[in-house]
Amino acid sequence: MIIRKCKGCGSMLQIKDPTLAGFVPKIEENTAFCKRCFRMKHYNELPKIVATNEDYEKVIDAVLKRKALMVFIVDIFSFKTTFHPKMINKLRGRDVLLVANKFDLLPRSVNPQKIVDWLSKECQKCFFKVEAIGIASAKKGYYMDELINVIDQARLERDVYFVGCANVGKSSIINALLKKNTSATDDLIATSMIPGTTLNEIRIPFFEDNRAFIDTPGLINEADVLNKLLPSSYGDIVPKNELKPVTYQITDQNAIFLGGLACLEFNCNNKTSVTVYVSNTLYIHRAKQERVPALLETQLGKLLTPPSLEELPTISYKEETFDFTNIKRDIWFSGFGFVQISGACRVKVRTIAETEVYITDAIIG
Ligand code: GDP
Repeated sequence: MIIRKCKGCGSMLQIKDPTLAGFVPKIEENTAFCKRCFRMKHYNELPKIVATNEDYEKVIDAVLKRKALMVFIVDIFSFKTTFHPKMINKLRGRDVLLVANKFDLLPRSVNPQKIVDWLSKECQKCFFKVEAIGIASAKKGYYMDELINVIDQARLERDVYFVGCANVGKSSIINALLKKNTSATDDLIATSMIPGTTLNEIRIPFFEDNRAFIDTPGLINEADVLNKLLPSSYGDIVPKNELKPVTYQITDQNAIFLGGLACLEFNCNNKTSVTVYVSNTLYIHRAKQERVPALLETQLGKLLTPPSLEELPTISYKEETFDFTNIKRDIWFSGFGFVQISGACRVKVRTIAETEVYITDAIIG
């Protein structure tokens, strides 16, 4: 019998149960991918079998017992959600490189060094010591040479584990590093916009000393709004291209809708500058506050979407209020972007109950 792991998701290949991970109708000498990963790779099919947090805990706890370099990947667009306290606590005291992926989504005018400085401050705020901080774009192949150089210096003849929340781009970064540094021209590890694509450890020998890159399943964050929506809505929320921020000069009693995901109502004495950084495909609507109840009543799930009418029955909303001074700050929404506020104002935020809302120093500008 041939015992082999799928190169796409790390599951043991098996021919018994099509509903379980690793299934292939037949295992042959050259079978590299399970049916699920084969179909994801060649037909862009979304995976039905995904990793759970139990899978993640099992793998990460085993991983942390090993002597290795940890590359902790976060998603710059979902920074606050993917710089997850659970991950930070597990990684404290280990040799860690922090890499913020999906840099291609930030406007081209953004200075990379300023982002690194901002990330460094966020690490200091939670007393999280890392060996180095980098940015990357697996999609565009940005900063891959810099990343491999830092890994080479910090590795000290150890394996290199890629860890982090689901969907931050761990597998994509490994694929990009392989394409840049080996003869690989195609993605080896399966990737998708569905959280939990990597099911088990995937070991890819890479270094001359037989040490490897190891991909791991990611922590699935319950606060990610994607968990509340159907895959058909993901396209509106998950940005694919560079964000085109939209700036509004807000006066008192104005409101801004981010699709049906959030509504921000402003109270201010002077004009406030508000810049929205969300997917270019998410519908943004500015209105007077007095119109908000009627718009929610008549347009939620229609003009103000996602959520769609189909998703609405399972969605509930919460409200929080935040005060801003003249210092530029950002309101982050777990999973769908951030809004920069520049000016003294009070903002009432109505958003899907599971969304985590955070305030940070402005990441841009
Ligand atoms: P993992 O779960 O952390 O291994 O994440 P994946 O590698 O499967 O990627 C999750 C999603 O993010 C996929 O849809 C990728 O195409 C996308 N993605 C990964 N890296 C980047 C990047 O650098 N930029 C952008 N815009 N998307 C990326």
